[in-house]
Amino acid sequence: MIIAIDGPAGSGKSTVARLCARQLGWHYLDTGAMYRAVTVAALERGLALDDGEALGRLTSECPVSFGYVEGDPLPATVAIAGQDVTAAIRTAAADANVSEVSAHAQVREACVSQQRAIATDRDAGNYVVEGRDIGTVVFPQAEFKFFVTASPEERARRRSAQNAERGLPGDYQQILDAIRARDAYDSTRAVAPLRAADDAVVIDTTELSIQDVCARIVDAVQRSGAAADAAGAPLGSAGGAGA
Ligand code: C5P
Repeated sequence: MIIAIDGPAGSGKSTVARLCARQLGWHYLDTGAMYRAVTVAALERGLALDDGEALGRLTSECPVSFGYVEGDPLPATVAIAGQDVTAAIRTAAADANVSEVSAHAQVREACVSQQRAIATDRDAGNYVVEGRDIGTVVFPQAEFKFFVTASPEERARRRSAQNAERGLPGDYQQILDAIRARDAYDSTRAVAPLRAADDAVVIDTTELSIQDVCARIVDAVQRSGAAADAAGAPLGSAGGAGA
């Protein structure tokens, strides 16, 4: 069973998706981390970011994998072609270039096929999958679809507070400009643009806490009886995602 959680940068969807996965005891797949890992690998290899063919080949040849620590079903590390990029995918360079890399059809095709393999592996159990096109393209048949959003100003405020906590640069105006630029790029690209699926439940988190948003999602799943049906699903197996 799949819960698709889509939404723009800084909407809180990652925190919500992780918390929901923990509360439900489901696996979690961060598809943004996969596009970020490909971006880091492309920058390191000096590939031209407008060369869709070369980037597509890189994506197919260098699978992304997630690493786990004992006792925690949520991934702790990300690697591409075996190289740990957990920190590198969160740098300003990755932020600034990931939208251009992820806009190429060849990159998306290779990433989407990895995402489907990971989340539908027969040993994988149930997944909360987070991204931009999960409910529209990757898993249009997902049992549950949510589109989590918030005003650009609120998203910039949250990201700047989060960066300050992590000791990263946190200038509000710069972050707001970067969020607007990434929104514009992601929602106007030709392939799989950021948008809510017609059958997604849209949650505006501007005035809501992470706990409130998560409670709505977990409630919807539990009310449908799906969480109970899924209770026997194996956890701890990461399917194709194991490092
Ligand atoms: O979710 P996150 O902000 O880490 O995603 C980084 C970037 O990866 C997005 O701005 C978008 O360009 C791309 N992305 C995508 N499709 C997804 C997930 C992320 O195009 N399913």
